[in-house]
Amino acid sequence: MASPELWEKWSAARVRAAHQAPYLANALLSLTPVLVSGPSAGELRRFPADPGWHVYVGTEELARQSVQEVSFWLIHQVTHLLREHFRRYPGSTVHPKAGDQHAWNLATDAEINDDLTPLHPSSEVTTPSTLGLPDNETAEHYWHALRTNSPPHQPQPGNPPSPPSPDIPGDCGSGCDGLPRAWDRDDLPALSPTTARLTALDTARRIRERLNAQDDVPAGWRRWADQVLEPAVSWRRHLSAKVRHGLAEAAGRVDYTYRRPSRRAAALPGVLLPSLRRPLPSVTVLIDTSGSITETMLARALAEVTGVLRAVGVGRRLLTVITCDARAYRPQTVTRIPALQLDGGGGTDLRAGFAAALARRPPPDLIIAITDGRTPWPARPPRTTRVIVALLDANGQAPGWAETVHLEGAS
Ligand SMILES: [Zn+2]
Repeated sequence: MASPELWEKWSAARVRAAHQAPYLANALLSLTPVLVSGPSAGELRRFPADPGWHVYVGTEELARQSVQEVSFWLIHQVTHLLREHFRRYPGSTVHPKAGDQHAWNLATDAEINDDLTPLHPSSEVTTPSTLGLPDNETAEHYWHALRTNSPPHQPQPGNPPSPPSPDIPGDCGSGCDGLPRAWDRDDLPALSPTTARLTALDTARRIRERLNAQDDVPAGWRRWADQVLEPAVSWRRHLSAKVRHGLAEAAGRVDYTYRRPSRRAAALPGVLLPSLRRPLPSVTVLIDTSGSITETMLARALAEVTGVLRAVGVGRRLLTVITCDARAYRPQTVTRIPALQLDGGGGTDLRAGFAAALARRPPPDLIIAITDGRTPWPARPPRTTRVIVALLDANGQAPGWAETVHLEGAS
């Protein structure tokens, strides 16, 4: 067991990391430290992570390194995870070459560390310049460059000699390339892919907020946030248009009542009349959480839909989420996406979800149903509520009375 002093050091390093990169504060809190001792502990110099967001902490390393160094490695490792380097490892899809895995570690480190320059605790850190490559490129770019230039230290005629790549000890773990390590603990509870995805979206939004407030954010993080928040697929615009249209109609109905003020309004000053109770359209997002839909698909689709709703101005207060498999679960108000419970996993009957949504008083102006479409549907449309079906599966069915958008690019 680590001594209380060591855990104090760990906590201090985490606080320092959150202070240095405030937009990563939430992500840093999602890391779970796992204490490692024994033969592999010496390789844990960089506090390697795994795709389940565990960070492997060797007691000796924690004792040896300063708070500043540990804090640097926490930011470094959480960046491997947020940028999903473990999914991006190209070594498994190309003709393998000796040293591919090590080259990927160098390449991803270069992608991370050019954003962290002011924080480097020592010269023992891989950057694009230590590899003789330009800043601000992707890990894939650096990896291909390293592979093409190998074997290293043999300058081609006409090309400037690349400086020797320093062989920095340690390993960033399976969080970097998805390949298992001796110290990985599959038996411990891991962060689910959904929660990880939602943490990434939350982080990207924090980066946007800081940028809007004119705070400084490194270029690599700015590009990353853009990619996470604005996937380049046309269905988003399509969905956005349908949502705008649906909300305009709903808002128009309320407007109509404003244009005909009740005579009673003048007679009863200070009394709120029914026609004035709903100045803004309310939206319920109905999510099919049956077993056929993957968590990642769902989290992605949900985040996109809530992004569209924010963009068209639906406030959090007016947004309700109901998850549904064969039955409908407790309606949730979305204040923080990572806090959302994606209950479900059984068979599918979205009719239960529609019934739950329409049982609310007042009923929502718009229902957006996210589903693969493999469900029975209500026979008739709701009387006053508009419905948009966001289909996750090209072969899924939506009823003729609903507006339909295909989200298959969302997975
Ligand atoms: Zn690394």
